Amino acid sequence: MSDVEFKATRKVYEDGTVGLDDLDLRIEEGEFLVLLGPSGCGKSTALRLLAGLEDITDGAINIGGARVNDLPPGARGLGMVFQSYALYPHMTVRENLSFGLRRTRGSDKVPPNEVVARVDEAASMLDLEKALDKKPKELSGGQQQRVAIGRALVRRPKVLLMDEPLSNLDAKLRNRMRFELRRLHEMHGTTTLYVTHDQIEAMTLADRIAILKDGRLQQHDKPLNAYNQPANSFVASFLGTPAMNLIEGRAAHGRFEAGELAFDLPPHLADADGPGFYGIRPENTHISEGGVPFTLGGVEHLGGEAIFHLEAGGHWIKALWRRKGTEAVAPHPEPGSQQPVILTDSSALFFKE
Ligand code: ADP
Repeated sequence: MSDVEFKATRKVYEDGTVGLDDLDLRIEEGEFLVLLGPSGCGKSTALRLLAGLEDITDGAINIGGARVNDLPPGARGLGMVFQSYALYPHMTVRENLSFGLRRTRGSDKVPPNEVVARVDEAASMLDLEKALDKKPKELSGGQQQRVAIGRALVRRPKVLLMDEPLSNLDAKLRNRMRFELRRLHEMHGTTTLYVTHDQIEAMTLADRIAILKDGRLQQHDKPLNAYNQPANSFVASFLGTPAMNLIEGRAAHGRFEAGELAFDLPPHLADADGPGFYGIRPENTHISEGGVPFTLGGVEHLGGEAIFHLEAGGHWIKALWRRKGTEAVAPHPEPGSQQPVILTDSSALFFKE
């Protein structure tokens, strides 16, 4: 069994900083869980506690049902892949992959024929067969990263930990590796904890996402659930580009008011009441007759789509337009013009916090 459980896990550093605040989180066996959040939210702390690189202040961590709080890192059955993959430069890919296995001793000893078999299997899975006799400097960044992953996988870890493993790669390679990582996971099925601040990685890689803020878990959910039903305005603003529009104001009697900006709430939010944030994603915000008047501040042209920056009563929102065919080449409205904006899509949300 290789499920992972954080149980009221707390980390307070020596200087009093709370790195992780009573985290309750379960990673099912075979699951790919992404820990997501901005810098300083406690992602690496959670990962380091699980890895045994930091002591737990309170609570527990279980792997496969067994408490590991006091186990040294090497005895936890983990494989780790970090941002800097630090391959041994003087060794070939084959030697880099087999190094850890060749050093096993005693009852953990992996016999030589098994080492060869596991290296071959990893090379095949990672498409590194032709690179086995090359040195790291002869490889592309993506191949080097794959060797680092292979090095962790040949150990047959119970749990694979990855800490921002793609952040050293250029944008194009990052996109490709993201896709490959998911494909690889489907193949080897190792329980995985993946740390990132990149919401696109989280959305595309995760079976489930755990979103942290200030050391506290905000939401633990499937990616599309977190996207469509964010638990609060923080999660709403963190997932999606451009981010969800959040207008701070007050709801009462079926209307939402934010200073000079006021409009009727859509029927599904008619009962919203009190201060809060009205949330609507840019892609669900339409410029169309009958909408609330906004002033067009500017347009960002992205080719197939355009982002309209719109202002009313001091509130700025974004509307995303996707246009096809002949529509796509029609001129956009001029900045400074008045535009009616429909804000009452059935996907709109109201957040108390
Ligand atoms: P993330 O990985 O999400 O960027 P971290 O887990 O590294 O966040 O940090 C969480 C919080 O703990 C931050 O406020 C950070 O400054 C603090 N922190 C991390 N490591 C230490 C440390 N060794 N000593 C004191 N505070 C730390």
